[in-house]
Amino acid sequence: MTTDSKLDALVLGSGIGGLSMAVLLARLGFRVAVIEKNPLPGGLLRSYRRGGLDCPVGVHYFGAFGAGEPLRRMCDFMGVTEGIAAERMGQGGPIDRYLFDDFTFDLPEGLDAFTGALHRAFPRDAQRLDVIAGNLRVMADLQNSFAFLSATPPLMNLDLFRSLDAYLSGMGCSLPLKSVLNVAASWVGMSGAECPVLYHHLALTSYLQSSWRLKGRGSDLADAFVSRLDTLGGRLILGDPAEAILASGGGVSEVRLASGRVLSADRVVAALHPKTVLGMLPEGALKPLRVRRIRRLAETEGLFVVSAAVDARAHPALPHNLFRLRADREGGLAEGVFYQLLSGTEEWNLLMIITKSLFAEWRRWENTTTGRRGADYEAEKAGRAERFLRQAEEVFGPLHGARVLDAYTPLTLRDWTGSPEGAPYGILRSTRQLPAAATLHRPTLAGLYLAGQNALSPGILGTMLGSFQVARRMIGQERFSREVLGPLRSAPA
Ligand SMILES: Cc1cc2nc3c(=O)[nH]c(=O)nc-3n(C[C@H](O)[C@H](O)[C@H](O)COP(=O)(O)OP(=O)(O)OC[C@H]3O[C@@H](n4cnc5c(N)ncnc54)[C@H](O)[C@@H]3O)c2cc1C
Repeated sequence: MTTDSKLDALVLGSGIGGLSMAVLLARLGFRVAVIEKNPLPGGLLRSYRRGGLDCPVGVHYFGAFGAGEPLRRMCDFMGVTEGIAAERMGQGGPIDRYLFDDFTFDLPEGLDAFTGALHRAFPRDAQRLDVIAGNLRVMADLQNSFAFLSATPPLMNLDLFRSLDAYLSGMGCSLPLKSVLNVAASWVGMSGAECPVLYHHLALTSYLQSSWRLKGRGSDLADAFVSRLDTLGGRLILGDPAEAILASGGGVSEVRLASGRVLSADRVVAALHPKTVLGMLPEGALKPLRVRRIRRLAETEGLFVVSAAVDARAHPALPHNLFRLRADREGGLAEGVFYQLLSGTEEWNLLMIITKSLFAEWRRWENTTTGRRGADYEAEKAGRAERFLRQAEEVFGPLHGARVLDAYTPLTLRDWTGSPEGAPYGILRSTRQLPAAATLHRPTLAGLYLAGQNALSPGILGTMLGSFQVARRMIGQERFSREVLGPLRSAPA
């Protein structure tokens, strides 16, 4: 067993949560190290190559990265913007196209363009649309002024904590309008019946401000953070899982890694799933009621993802995303498939297909690990992937010569990220679970903090905001306002 010299902060996990946390702390002068269980950093940011094509995992598009917008301001502050090559969507066409059985809706860039498109599509909902647009504008203002990071967080209307479904039904919105608005709830892993209006509106307004795709490899985003961390003197320890958070004198003191290496630090930020963190804490560190509450938290539903190579000449890349959707009788979404057709090589383009798939569907293999699940699992996966590829022909026409490059299940994501049940967006931040989820950031041991997508909100923007929240708690509001919030707000637009 070896012991390294003491650090100011140790960050566990190198997804966007851990990497942004570490860069931010290093930027604030902390001596910091990141511990990652996998041999490569990035968690869900990391793309992989199959058949010469780069297959993205957890970043298909992201919002609010235009100059002066919140994601860009945070990246500017951390000094990573230069390393992120991204292209703006929705230029001369939609960002998303929603294909329902009986109508199509194109999501344009800009709140005014969006409400204009809704007015044209649903003229009978005109008055209700004015109310919705007004609320979206309020959320956009709160987001753009980083109000959630200020000394006195904004007073929020209780309506924002109702479910999207209850809010829209209460206003008497038409069913097709509800179906269209429900799509943004799926961006944070929820149905409209589960999703609080707050999360829905924050997600929707961020993508409406501007939507972006990464150029080049998906992993470039992870690498931009890693290289910035290196410049700031932070360290990255790969391929060695954190096993235990050790405590002394009522606060964190050390972290023991699987290799037996022990690192000491005054603070530990776990950018991991809270259930994983539970297993690392010393006996009795949390009250039994708290432990039970965390264990009981429901996860966001799993995904089944297919990457396929399609003939580049017959199927040129699409500048927008496609959603093939089926509405239910209440205006919710009964089924949904997300497609991206991305440019690849001269010969082949990449078709990404993402659908819902419950963890329970894969439970037979839950005690196996990636690459060793056996022939039955491989056959089940291959059969489903082929079916989804054929189903895609309904949208794209005949896909002659197309071939499945790879498919993954909630089990794959569970093994790669350590997220229980392979939950793509972490725990469900539904209206029902919100009270329990909101307490997750409360300190347990002195010096221990929770970051990552479970701290505040999922997605690239939500997870990064969670890191800024942790920094605020760590350095205190006064220093945070002076050194972080001030510059964030005054960055040139
Ligand atoms: C298929 C899919 C598509 C998505 N698409 C989008 C999108 O288009 N836009 C968007 O904004 N969001 C998207 N998301 C959500 C987004 O990717 C996540 O919200 C975000 O990446 C979560 O980051 P994180 O750092 O919290 O978690 P992760 O990326 O899961 O990082 C956690 C890290 O911790 C490591 N770890 C786990 N246990 C240990 C341990 N014991 N010791 C050390 N390290 C450990 C893991 O290996 C991993 O690297 C998508 C997610 C999925 C699954």
